[in-house]
Amino acid sequence: MLNYNKYQIMNNNNTTENSSRSPNVNWRSLLGTFALLLLLNSFVFPFLFKPKIIPTTYSNFINKVDSALVKKVNIDGNKIFFTTPEGTVDRNGNQQDAIYQVGKMDDANLVDRLLEADSPNENGKIEFSETIPRENSPVLNFLLYWVLPGAIFFFLWRSAMKSMRGRMDGNYMSFGKNKEKIYAEDEIKTTFADVAGQEEAKESLGEIIDFLHNPEKYGKIGAALPKGVLLVGPPGTGKTLIARAVAGEAKVPFFALSGSEFVQMFVGMGAAKVRDLFSQANKKAPCIIFIDEIDAIGKRRDGMTTNDEREQTLNQLLTEMDGFDGRKGVVILAATNRPESLDKALLRPGRFDRRVQMELPDLEGRKAILQVHLKKVKHEEIDLDLIARATSGASGAELANIVNEAALRAVRNNSSSITTNDLEESIETVIAGAQRKGKVISDEEKRIIAYHEIGHAMVAAKQTHSAPVHKITIIPRTSGALGYTMQIDEGERNLYSREDLENRIATLTGGRAAEEVIFNKITTGASNDIEQATKLARAMVTRYGMSDEFDMVALETVNNPYLSSDTSLSCSAETASRVDEVVLSIVKNAHDKAKKIIRANEAKMHELSEYLIQKETITGEEFMNILEN
Ligand code: ADP
Ligand code: ZN
Ligand code: MG
Repeated sequence: MLNYNKYQIMNNNNTTENSSRSPNVNWRSLLGTFALLLLLNSFVFPFLFKPKIIPTTYSNFINKVDSALVKKVNIDGNKIFFTTPEGTVDRNGNQQDAIYQVGKMDDANLVDRLLEADSPNENGKIEFSETIPRENSPVLNFLLYWVLPGAIFFFLWRSAMKSMRGRMDGNYMSFGKNKEKIYAEDEIKTTFADVAGQEEAKESLGEIIDFLHNPEKYGKIGAALPKGVLLVGPPGTGKTLIARAVAGEAKVPFFALSGSEFVQMFVGMGAAKVRDLFSQANKKAPCIIFIDEIDAIGKRRDGMTTNDEREQTLNQLLTEMDGFDGRKGVVILAATNRPESLDKALLRPGRFDRRVQMELPDLEGRKAILQVHLKKVKHEEIDLDLIARATSGASGAELANIVNEAALRAVRNNSSSITTNDLEESIETVIAGAQRKGKVISDEEKRIIAYHEIGHAMVAAKQTHSAPVHKITIIPRTSGALGYTMQIDEGERNLYSREDLENRIATLTGGRAAEEVIFNKITTGASNDIEQATKLARAMVTRYGMSDEFDMVALETVNNPYLSSDTSLSCSAETASRVDEVVLSIVKNAHDKAKKIIRANEAKMHELSEYLIQKETITGEEFMNILEN
């Protein structure tokens, strides 16, 4: 369904960190349990375990005493309980006394009345008594009335403080206190050896390291080094890594903060943090301050939207950068993948005036990065060249991820070291998702998928200038791909000719073309191909000037080169509709060409597809063998 190249490597370095707050729930659940017990105690247990007590009036009580109906009387504090024989009958058929409760009244004659009254008791006398109130010991009273409430209040107060502090992200309660993570010099073990490729960046930063080692050398001549260095490049190219490596090489303290850490809940807090950071750095000089993802605070002030907190923070940063003495040996590194969004004031000389570009690694760079990461795992002899060629367009972070995936795969397979095969499989996992062996696919669908993939491969093989087919598979993937054809270029490609791109589009349409020619019907399986083909054709017209009609006019601009390939049109609506026509004709031509190729090779299509259905995955070699015999 898809073949991939530069255009397709997915971004896989979403390493969001979950900063979890310390939970303060223990006492809360305790309190909950306590409340529940209280509830049970006062409402549920009495009904379960105590006999039913009937409240009644004092006059009724006197009435019953006088009518000789009362058996027992018990005066308990300011309550009087009494029993009469006319109660309920229990489960065993025994007569139960009814128990009544009545409030005590100031009745001086009560005792006389009880003594005189008749009763159903055998001796004809009411049995009466008073419960002696139980006195708590003074110690218990003290605990109960003084210590316990105090403890409860203390716990409540402490938890309130804790949760408030949690909400304020740890800064409100400790206003002005140092919260920056300070790395002592020997804590940073990262060196330039950990950063593969990126030779230009290393060279440029080498000077900074030299300066931090002996600032006097520079001071003697009166040379001041740039105060700030901006590391710019796509995500995952090692910006954060190289910043740490600079500190590791220079053996100086390293203050690392992310731009978003400065943007606080309250206006002014971020600025305070900046001030704090610089005053600490000044004390520790020579040292490095590293502000990662600086675009969070350094975004251009556009006058349209205002964010007071961010602007104040930025202003403070600008002021601090102007204010400190560059010769003292404080170097500020910052990283961003959106340099175009940064405020101009940040970039002017005297601030971040040096820019170090981090690029996606080329073939040699990828080999080097793979080597760095393979060193950390056990592996057999690896065909580095093949893996590096297969990962064209991947960033350092993606390569690190691929090696790790391969290691996980090796563990899963109970093998003790990684093989080239593991790496290949993990490239596919990173690109197309894991295999979905359980997915049920009918034989009919399987046939269509097989012809579709062979269609791609056939069109690729029958054209010049297309990357050789490396692998074809019809094992479904978790990404939703039902199969795919993998092409790997022989070397590193930097330039693509018009013909190359047209061939690529033809290859992309090859799957659908096969469906049409063989089954005379079309399916939804080509959606991804269609998307890619259209994107490519559009770029040819609007950005690469590869149409006769528009010559070398830029019709689209790329908004954010490092993060997405979002573009915005920069032409009139009329032109835009003509662009659409040209794009259509490019795709159409390619599609026709693909159909022609498939028709011309129909016999081979059948042979190859049958073979693929049988084996589910075939290599480029197997494919070429059948095709050429
Ligand atoms: P960025 O900050 O540019 O988004 P990172 O520096 O966080 O990228 O890189 C993430 C990970 O990718 C690193 O920890 C490292 O494992 C790997 N990596 C990236 N570039 C390289 C490189 N040039 N050499 C070795 N490893 C790299
Ligand atoms: Zn396809
Ligand atoms: Mg980073």
